[in-house]
Parts: sequence; structure tokens; C-alpha cells
Amino acid sequence: MPGRNIGVCDVCAKERPTWALTKCHICGHVVCQKCATFAYGRYFCSKRCALFFFHDEGLDEDEGEET
Ligand SMILES: [Zn+2]
Ligand SMILES: [Zn+2]
Repeated sequence: MPGRNIGVCDVCAKERPTWALTKCHICGHVVCQKCATFAYGRYFCSKRCALFFFHDEGLDEDEGEET
């Protein structure tokens, strides 16, 4: 048993298993899948971050470790 794989959603502040959490690609906030905004093929903590990504797309992109 490798410890508790539990994290806290930055939006709803509830504890979630890490598999249900995702990291915002823009601001780095950790959000659960219920709170996350899915856009452009990835998750964001909010619509604002999704829009930011849309405007900012192509700047950087190299951490493909979300499988
Ligand atoms: Zn949440
Ligand atoms: Zn964000």
C-alpha cells in the first residue's frame, strides 16, 4: 500500500483520489473532474484558463505525461 493517493481539489476543496484529479495546464491548480473544464482536448480549472490556453496556444507544449 503506497500511502493514500488523495489530493484536494482547488475549486471545491474536497478530497479526491488522485486519479480523479487533473492539473490545470495554465495555472497549475489541481481540480477534480467535476470542477474541471474540458476544452481543446485537455482539462482546465476554469473556463478562463481554457480561453487563456486558446489564445496562448502554440507557445509551449512538452509535458505529455497525462495518460
Ligand atoms: Zn472539485
Ligand atoms: Zn487554471
